[in-house]
Amino acid sequence: MFTVVKNGIVHAPENIGRKDILIGAGKILMISPDIDIHNSIFDYDEIDAGECLILPGFIDQHVHIAGAGGEGGPRTRTPEIGLSELTTGGITTVVGLLGFDGMTRSISDLLAKAKGLEEEGITSYIYSGTYELPTRTITGAVKSDLVLIDKVLGIGEIAISDHRSAQPTVEEMIRLAAEARIGGMIGNKAGVVHVHLGEGKNGMSLIFDSVSRSDIPITQFVPTHVNRLSGLFDEAMTFLRDGGVIDLTSGFSSKHDSPEAVEVYMGLEKIIRSGLSLERVTVSSDANGSMPVFNDSGELEKLAKGSVKPLWNDICKAIHEEVVSISTGVALITKNPAKILKLYPKKGIVSVGSDADLVIVNKESLKIEKVLAKGRLMVDNEQPLAWGTFEKQ
Ligand code: ZN
Repeated sequence: MFTVVKNGIVHAPENIGRKDILIGAGKILMISPDIDIHNSIFDYDEIDAGECLILPGFIDQHVHIAGAGGEGGPRTRTPEIGLSELTTGGITTVVGLLGFDGMTRSISDLLAKAKGLEEEGITSYIYSGTYELPTRTITGAVKSDLVLIDKVLGIGEIAISDHRSAQPTVEEMIRLAAEARIGGMIGNKAGVVHVHLGEGKNGMSLIFDSVSRSDIPITQFVPTHVNRLSGLFDEAMTFLRDGGVIDLTSGFSSKHDSPEAVEVYMGLEKIIRSGLSLERVTVSSDANGSMPVFNDSGELEKLAKGSVKPLWNDICKAIHEEVVSISTGVALITKNPAKILKLYPKKGIVSVGSDADLVIVNKESLKIEKVLAKGRLMVDNEQPLAWGTFEKQ
């Protein structure tokens, strides 16, 4: 079965103009100004993109797909994510991770959930590990998880500067990064160490120290949630200037979170104003993570659950505020994470030979209208067509 997507303006993420896209066996087979297969002997579907923008499928590299949380006891454990929650947010590639609770949750469970999402139609990967160090794995070692388990791209999220963290030392971080690096090399994976930054007083110093006191390349570490506080964000900009990679979390706002929180569009503006490139900057959602608020005594005050929706909303805001072009904004959740996670050019770009993961958005409002994952139409008219096994339809 072939599919032709007609009449869209393709941002690959670079704007390559009005093009038709031929899809077969889940891959992009041809991109051309006018593809006519009416006389073909093969069955085919035609999707009219009707002047909409066609973008690469979004990559969300920080989703608690199998649930997370538990900071306020068993009733505060967050649920698994449903397929349509991801696809309606434009996510066609997800990286799942565990987080705070490595006691009642396991990496095997996370891996099974990732495999389930793959069966349901999208592409999934995981980070092995939890907040703690020594961290949890499937095979007993970070290195062998990376080498032996296809879906494991890196390690994380390891928590630092957080009262929920295991308070690792520099030596422990260096050893972990070394294992991730070696495992990544042998397994031909990115082998990144995805590091959760909390609101703690030491900010990113543990990562800076790990880089300066070892031979591990700075790009092995991917600090995330760096926009949760403005002081932390300043450190992240230094890290970026030094050659590092940073991941912003969508949905942070000074109104609903800390008054010090840096909204994604503001953070991007700061980076651009400093003359730094956005190529090593990504944004992820932290969906289905718990978002606990603690008082000054460290007691849990309230708890919410993250969603994937703010991911595209925050990029749209940056585009509408004219902080970034459409191409640059889209790259933050497509091409940039694909390169950092070594998934490029299979993922993160609309090009011949790439997976047929496409997000079709209204050219004015940028609302997500259609989503294709590996060539299959998952969302149409903003509504899910494909559902997870136990989702309410
Ligand atoms: Zn986190």
